[in-house]
Amino acid sequence: MKINYDLKLQEEIQKLGNCHPSLLLHVCCGPCSSNVIKELSEHFQITIYYSNSNIYPPEEYQRRFHELLSFIEKFNQDYQQDIKVIEDPYNNAEWISHLYPLKEYPEGSVRCKLCYSLRMRRTFDYAKIHHFDYWTTVLSVSPHKNSQWINEIGHQWQCDSPRFLYADFKKNNGYLKSTQMTKEYGMYRQNYCGCMFSYEEMQEREKRAQNHID
Ligand code: SF4
Repeated sequence: MKINYDLKLQEEIQKLGNCHPSLLLHVCCGPCSSNVIKELSEHFQITIYYSNSNIYPPEEYQRRFHELLSFIEKFNQDYQQDIKVIEDPYNNAEWISHLYPLKEYPEGSVRCKLCYSLRMRRTFDYAKIHHFDYWTTVLSVSPHKNSQWINEIGHQWQCDSPRFLYADFKKNNGYLKSTQMTKEYGMYRQNYCGCMFSYEEMQEREKRAQNHID
């Protein structure tokens, strides 16, 4: 049975009152995270964790990271926030060593479930070591990402501190709002998910489209 994780988020927020606990938020890129950061910053003291060793090639990793940094700088000014960004060291070779056996599986399959899990585990570990009150990820904002899996993964490591913040950020037009903020801040939005496999799939799509036009 599908669980309504948006409802769980609203219930958790209701319990907070005015206390603004600390939250370590795993972010994959500026565009996806924009509206999530805006909405969560009303209830939490956010620190961003950029843990994305899946991204290929390295130039694309840097481009997304710098886009995120420049968005946060502007966001902090616009919304009187002091959100910090922490970068988890990039190690694409290690990520590929875990995912390579699943390379033939398409986007949206168990390949992605393992990818979510690797990045979320690193976020949880950092949140635990550094005594955050809550942790979560923005990944569920994307219509291409399986929110049930994302929340089930977070649930595996649920504990008193840090608490996993269940959420389904695509609900309530979350994705649409993030695309609007992306335009408002003039951000670069990539045309593939991130890993080497999705990069090759994107190139194949473009080649097919080009052949169709010719
Ligand atoms: S398509 Fe995206 S979520 Fe799936 S494995 Fe690649 S980077 Fe990870």
